[in-house]
Parts: sequence; C-alpha cells; structure tokens
Amino acid sequence: MSTAFEFHCPTKIVCGKHALEKLPDELVMTGMSHPLVMTDAGLMKLGVAAKLTDVLDAADVTYDLFSDVPPDSSMDVVNQVAHLYVEKGCDGFVAIGGGSVIDTTKGAAASLACNGVDFATLQGSEILTDNLPPFIAVPTTAGTGSEVTLVAVVKDTQTHAKLSFTSYKLLPHVAILDPALTASLPPKLTSTTGMDALTHAIEAYTSTQKNPVSDAFAVKAIELIASNLTTACTTPDNLDARTNLALGSLMAGAAFSNAMVGIVHSLGHSLGGLCGIPHGQAMMMLLPHCVRYNLKHGIHAGEYGKLLPYLAPAKAEELGHQASKEVLDQAVCDTLFAMNTYFHDNFGAPLTLKDLGVKHEDLPAVAKQARYDGSALYNSVEVTLEMAQEILEAVYE
Ligand code: NAD
Repeated sequence: MSTAFEFHCPTKIVCGKHALEKLPDELVMTGMSHPLVMTDAGLMKLGVAAKLTDVLDAADVTYDLFSDVPPDSSMDVVNQVAHLYVEKGCDGFVAIGGGSVIDTTKGAAASLACNGVDFATLQGSEILTDNLPPFIAVPTTAGTGSEVTLVAVVKDTQTHAKLSFTSYKLLPHVAILDPALTASLPPKLTSTTGMDALTHAIEAYTSTQKNPVSDAFAVKAIELIASNLTTACTTPDNLDARTNLALGSLMAGAAFSNAMVGIVHSLGHSLGGLCGIPHGQAMMMLLPHCVRYNLKHGIHAGEYGKLLPYLAPAKAEELGHQASKEVLDQAVCDTLFAMNTYFHDNFGAPLTLKDLGVKHEDLPAVAKQARYDGSALYNSVEVTLEMAQEILEAVYE
C-alpha cells in the first residue's frame, strides 16, 4: 500500500446482554438531560421501543418521543423531526430502530447542527462543518451498521431517489448493541438485513478505497455473519448468535464507512428509490448476481476467493491449499447463491425482482439511475448502462 489512508470509528460501542441498562450512564456522559427518542410504529407495537423508554422512566429521565419514522424515511420526516426537537426543547437524540430510524435521526441532527436548514441542502460529501447534538444509536436490526457509519440514506419522495449524505460528523457518539432488542426480528427480516451486512463487508473488501484496517473489519464481519446468521434465523432468541450478528453488522458498517461500497449498492439504492424494494432485500438478491457478473468479466478475480475461509470455512478446508484462484472465486459465488436459496426455501425471502412485483419495463430507469448513485464512484470499474441492465435482467426472474 503506497498511498496514505484514513480510518474513522470514533463511536463509543457498548455491546452485550443487558447493554441497554447502561443508557442512563451514557446520557450523562454525552450531556443529555432531555432526549428526543426516535423510533417507528412497528417497534412501538412490538414493545421493543418500550424496553428503552422503561429504562428512561426507571431513571426518571424527561424525554419526548417521535414514533412515526417510515421505512426508508423521507426528507419531509427529517425536517419535521428537527422542528419537533426545537419545539420540545430537547438536547440530544436517542434513536432505537433499524437503519431507517437511525438515518432519519442523523438527518435531523445534521439539520439542527446547521441552524435548522432543510436537510436536502446538505446532500453530498463533507458538507457538514458543525458537530451534531449528542446522539446515541440503539440498533434493532443487524444489517445497516448505521450506528457506526458516516452515511445517511434518505428518500426524496418527489424525485423517488435515495439520497446519500456522507460526513465524519454524522457518526453517532454512542452505539448500544443489546441482543435482546433484535430477538423479535422475524427470520425473513433477519436474513435480508444480515445479507445487507454481508454485502457491506464484501463490497468494502473489493472497493477502490479499501485499506488494511477496513479489510480486517470486513473479514471479521464476514466470519461473524456467516457463522451466526442461520442460527439467528432458526432460533431467534439465541442471544449469543444475535450478539455476534450485531457485532458483524457493526464491523461491516465500520469497514464500508471507510472503504465505501460499489455496484450492489448503486443498483440497490436505485431499486429502493424507484421501485420501493426494501434495502436489505435488494442487497440480498443482487449480491450473488453482481459477484457472478464481476467474475465473468475478470473483475476482482482472485480477490473474492480470499474470503472463502471466512464465509464457508468447511468448503475452504474441503478444497484445500491446492485449489486454484478460479475455483475459490467460484466457491464464494456459489456459497452466496446457496445462502439465498436457503433463506428463500426456509423463510420466504424473495429471490427475484418479479417475485417482488417489479415491472420489467421499469428496469431501464433503474439501470439509468444506478449509474449516478454515489456508490458507483467507488466501484472498481465504471458502472455502465449495459452492466447495470445485464445484472438487473439476471435478477429479474
Ligand atoms: P428498517 O429500519 O427500514 O426496518 C425495517 C422493518 O423492520 C420496520 O418495519 C421495523 O419496524 C422492523 N424492525 C426493526 N427492528 C425490528 C425488531 N427488532 N423486531 C421486529 N421488527 C423490527 O430496516 P433496516 O434494513 O435496518 O434499514 C434500512 C434503511 O437503512 C434504508 O433506508 C437503507 O437505505 C438505510 N441504510 C443506511 C446505511 C447507513 O450506513 N446509514 C447503510 C445501509 C442501509
């Protein structure tokens, strides 16, 4: 490695069984006395958000609640939350939820850091100059890693585009990972969000901006996700598997937050924005097809195979040290397809765009928008219209 690189992960991590009990201490450490608690309707209904507000109630903490974050969120909601925060006199955020809740909170916090400007004006890279208000993220999915990423992805409901915001200022100050909060995640959502995390790690490992530190986080993330995802799906309340999956997701987030992602995310964001496909679902479907496309065109040849010992250790052992790079690359691709088939057959995770109701005539627009997604900048080759179309056709049915 000849060029200098940076690696940022200043977020304090509190992880393990009963980690949520540390929340009152973390409020004091971050200087919060009246947080705005952010969550969504699903987590309210399931009683997951109540696990957090119960801790606040027991500690006599004054707080306000916003529980209407929609899936994938939107600019309007971000701006609405920023207004509510000022109106209620809050002095920090506690976000309990998946990537949608955490990213909405990032957006509102960023807007407030810039005197309440419309969040849309902060789109792009390193636009933020001021620090966010105190911010504690409590993830309830093990997928996006948003609790440690410098990214926020928010939908523009007018243009149907998913807009990316990147800044080192967007990193939450504290992440609390308590496995009991992910135990209610149904197997299908566990598998799709887990495959999102796996995609982060694999794309970080093959990104143009990778470095030895992001590689270390990526391979450990792959090992943790691959060896715990099935267990978390089949025995949802196995808290050891849930903890390992949460850590794998966090490490994959830290890896991609520094190394960035590529074609899988370019296409996935476009499918999310134009066709409403949930992010994890899109990642799961696209990942093996993008790996297959890349290998067919000699992209990352010899690189994917290095991941086999972490992704499928038994397969790596079976193939042995004599296996060629081509054989190892192919084994990684085959393993990813086999994982998807398993999650489809056992938990109903869809495998094709057609299954999800995407219209074939929408594919050209999806391909076109994918080329202009921020992730395309970090793909090791230019994302062309032909490339995007070929992959989308393969995932279609
Ligand atoms: P999500 O936050 O959209 O949640 C999906 C559904 O799962 C919701 O209905 C929610 O109520 C439910 N849910 C969440 N936790 C649950 C639990 N413990 N039990 C039962 N149900 C639960 O899903 P996500 O995949 O975590 O986040 C997706 C969003 O994050 C997308 O907008 C995506 O673009 C974004 N994203 C952001 C980053 C980043 O670094 N900022 C990275 C990847 C994706």
